[in-house]
Amino acid sequence: MKKIYLIIVAVLAGLSSISCTPKEVIVDDQLPAGNIVFERMLNDTVYVHQQLRGSKKAWFYWAFRVRGAQGKKLTFVFTKSFALCERGPLVSLDKGKSYEYLAEEGSTPHTFTYTFPADAKEVWFYECHPYTPEMWEAFLKNRNHKGEFETGVLCKSRKGRDVPFFRMTTKNSMPKKSVVVSARHHCSEAPAAYVMEGFVAAFLEDSQLGVWLRENVELTVVPFVDMDGAVEGDQGKWRLPHDHNRDYTEFLYPETAALASLMAETEPHVFMDFHNPKLYKYNDNYIYTPYKDFSGVDEYNFSALIEKYQEGDLDYKASDNLPYGVSWNKDSNYTDGLSVTGWVSANIKSIEICRTFEIPFAYANGKLVYPDKMRKFGHGIARALQAYIEGEVLVTTTEN
Ligand SMILES: [Zn+2]
Repeated sequence: MKKIYLIIVAVLAGLSSISCTPKEVIVDDQLPAGNIVFERMLNDTVYVHQQLRGSKKAWFYWAFRVRGAQGKKLTFVFTKSFALCERGPLVSLDKGKSYEYLAEEGSTPHTFTYTFPADAKEVWFYECHPYTPEMWEAFLKNRNHKGEFETGVLCKSRKGRDVPFFRMTTKNSMPKKSVVVSARHHCSEAPAAYVMEGFVAAFLEDSQLGVWLRENVELTVVPFVDMDGAVEGDQGKWRLPHDHNRDYTEFLYPETAALASLMAETEPHVFMDFHNPKLYKYNDNYIYTPYKDFSGVDEYNFSALIEKYQEGDLDYKASDNLPYGVSWNKDSNYTDGLSVTGWVSANIKSIEICRTFEIPFAYANGKLVYPDKMRKFGHGIARALQAYIEGEVLVTTTEN
């Protein structure tokens, strides 16, 4: 009897060991804006690299998911070029509903280590906070907004996708100012889209600011200038033969041609284009605008107003802005073709403010960057816009 019992236990143990055999760890790009090449896995180390997809220089965007790693502690190594900011990757245990930085577990420009929770069947990792067209649509649908807006199709992308635009017109026949904003000229620069969203949110809110903006400002938004790249998870930066923000000489991409036509039609006084800078901590860990050689006193005054009215604890300092001719911000950076701000300044006669914002990936003057802080910073830009239009002057010279 005892012998039979032992045999049964042994059989059950055998079955148990079969059913509990750790599943194969699977690394793939099946998540929004996915981008990864899985090379190999040796013991607890996974070797991967980001796909450049036609960019002529190494860049750092990637996004992948991992399944079958419950309870494991794995180290991920990016073999081609640096790919991580000093806060490490963003991780989501709920398929994109929420994200956290992983720096606590250790991260270098090329590697990070993560201990998968015992019940984490599927974990998403991103180089930066993602922002997809679905998130933009959810923002428009879910917000308890005031005012009326129009959404539609700016144009078809090269791969046939609808490229969205958004517009709010004033009830006055003549708005005080026309404003155009855009993002994703470089498609992998997703986090800057939260600043854009926060700016737009100010126009939709139930507040004195919202009422004033709706009465005085016509707003046009093109949130995904490189639509295909934003959906598919491309780098976009340095895309061959030139990227979307160097396309305003040749207009190879439908979106840039359509945005230029839109601006010729709407004649904006203010144009703002949202970007993220380089990745790692030795570069650009603060919010800044790279001034152009044409940037005049209105630009410097607007910067001072943004500093004064800023929200979101990201410690923007107008003195962090990059003068023309300094660092990368010089003529040699534009040999591939005109940028959107270069084109607007040369072709839109009504323009007063024409600028790029660079929003750091992880830290802004020591403050950790999160989507809600970026949204608030965008909201503060709307407050600065009101002050600018109402004529508040803090700066009267471009001299420091
Ligand atoms: Zn950019």
